[in-house]
Amino acid sequence: MNYLQYYPVDIVNGEGTRCTLFVSGCEHACKGCYNQKSWSFSAGLPFDNAMEQQIIRDLQDTRIKRQGLTLSGGDPLHPRNVECLLPFVKRVKQQCPDKDIWLWTGYTLAELTDQQRQMLPYIDVLIDGKFIQEQADPSLVWRGSANQVIYRLKESDF
Ligand code: SF4
Repeated sequence: MNYLQYYPVDIVNGEGTRCTLFVSGCEHACKGCYNQKSWSFSAGLPFDNAMEQQIIRDLQDTRIKRQGLTLSGGDPLHPRNVECLLPFVKRVKQQCPDKDIWLWTGYTLAELTDQQRQMLPYIDVLIDGKFIQEQADPSLVWRGSANQVIYRLKESDF
């Protein structure tokens, strides 16, 4: 997996102060997508062990307290990205158990495959669905268009 951007201190992509990773690769091709350069799986840099380690370190940093980790993109739930992110979110929950994980995806919760659903037990907040320009509304919080849904996940959603 490649990633486009990593922000070690971010206050706009989820609640509280967060670490935010924008992964590369998305096949939804939404009209009006805010970040078309994220569609290519080869954009950006490889998400390697050093990057994983840096995020864990930042989440554990007591000088700037983070509420959690945000995964956006691109699409973190594209099957190719799930392969890489599943072991990573397990590691985050094991080594940073007090941190929450927010994830933005273009898939809807209902259409996730069994492979994608393996991520859900590690995700606290999921914002789902493609960006639909006709339903865009700048007054929405954490969402670009009204079709998208914010799920505070419970075990029954897995
Ligand atoms: S899901 Fe997000 S990144 Fe992918 S095309 Fe739609 S708006 Fe762009």
